[in-house]
Amino acid sequence: MERTNLLGMTQAQLVEFVSDSLNEKAFRARQIFKWIHQYGVDNFDDMTNLAKPLRARLAEVAEIRAPEVLFQGDSKDGTRKWVLKVDGGSAIETVYIPDGKRGTLCVSSQVGCSLDCSFCSTGKQGFNKNLTPAEIIGQVWLAAKSYGLPVLDTAERRVTNVVMMGMGEPLLNYEPVVDCMRTMMDDDAYGISKRRVTLSTSGVVPALDRLGSEIDVSLAVSLHAPNDELRNVLVPINKKYNIDTLFAATQRYLDALPDNRSVTFEYTMLDGVNDQLEHANQLARLIKKTGIRCKVNLIPFNPFPGTDYKTSPRPVIEAFQRKLVHSNIITTVRTTRGDDIDAACGQLVGSVMDKTRRSERYIKLQQVQ
Ligand code: SF4
Repeated sequence: MERTNLLGMTQAQLVEFVSDSLNEKAFRARQIFKWIHQYGVDNFDDMTNLAKPLRARLAEVAEIRAPEVLFQGDSKDGTRKWVLKVDGGSAIETVYIPDGKRGTLCVSSQVGCSLDCSFCSTGKQGFNKNLTPAEIIGQVWLAAKSYGLPVLDTAERRVTNVVMMGMGEPLLNYEPVVDCMRTMMDDDAYGISKRRVTLSTSGVVPALDRLGSEIDVSLAVSLHAPNDELRNVLVPINKKYNIDTLFAATQRYLDALPDNRSVTFEYTMLDGVNDQLEHANQLARLIKKTGIRCKVNLIPFNPFPGTDYKTSPRPVIEAFQRKLVHSNIITTVRTTRGDDIDAACGQLVGSVMDKTRRSERYIKLQQVQ
C-alpha cells in the first residue's frame, strides 16, 4: 500500500486525514503537525506524546518524506545552497541567504519553467513538472533542520523570510504553492509573518486575481522592462498579459490587502538592453501614471553559460537608480550573493529532465553561434 506523505499537508488537511483515515480527534493533527514542522521529526516513533498504537498505525499508512539532498554547500558569504532530487529523477535548487538577523530562503515551485524568459537560466532548462506540496514545503523543512530545531524556540530563528522566487513560475503551480505558503505562516509550523512570505510572479494575471481572494502574502512582480515591446522579448508571457493588464491586476491585489503594503518590481539590469536612462524615465512615468504603491529592486544580471546578455556596468545601474529615486520611487540594488556556488539570482538550474525540448534547441543554437 502506498503511504500518504504528511509533509505537504496543511494543518487543515492533516485534521481531515487524521479524522478520515485514523478516526482520531483534531488535536492529534496539531500535535503531528508541530512534530513535523517545528521539531523536524520524520519518524513517528519520535512523536512521544502520541500513544504507541497510534504511532504504529501512522507508520503503516503514512510517511514524512522530504526530497533527497544531493548537494549542500556554503558560499564564502554564508549563502547556503541545496540541490534536491525530486520525484521523476530531476533536481531542483534552494538557496538560503543570511543578512544580519534576517535569513531569506529562496524556494522553487517547478522543475524548470515553461515561460522561457530570455535572460533566465531556469527558463533555458525547459520544463519537467510541477513540484508536489511535500517537495515545496520540504525545502523549508530541510533548510530549517539544517540550522537547528525547534524552529520557534531558538533565540535566533534562521529562516525568517521566504521568497517563492526559485525555479519556476509559482502561479502556474497554484494550489500546492498556496497550501505551502499557508504552512509557512502557520504558528504551529514556521510562523513566518505574511509580510515575510513573498510570491514572485512574471504576471499570470488570472491566477494573481485568484491569489488576492484566497491568501494574504507579499507580492513581487518580475517586470524587467518599462514598455511592452521590450517586455515581449524579455518576458514572453507579456504577449498574453501586457504591462497595463499586469499593473491593473497588481493594483487589485494590493487593494485586497488589509494594510498598505507595496509591490516590489524586480528589474534585471541587462547591459545595453533595458538599462538606459530612457528606460528609467519610461519606468518612472509608468509608475507615476498608475500611482501604484511600489518599490523597484534592480538586479545586476548574473551571466550563465551560453547567454548573450551581459551585466550592466555598476555606474549604469547607479545612474538608473538615481533617476528613479529622483522621481520619488524607492529603488534598491540587489547585492549579488552566493555566486561562488552558482546560487546567485537567476543562476538556479538544478537538473531538469526537459519535456519541452527547449534545452535541446538552446544547446543547438549555442553550437551554431
Ligand atoms: S524568470 Fe521566472 S518565469 Fe521567467 S523563465 Fe525564469 S523562472 Fe520562469
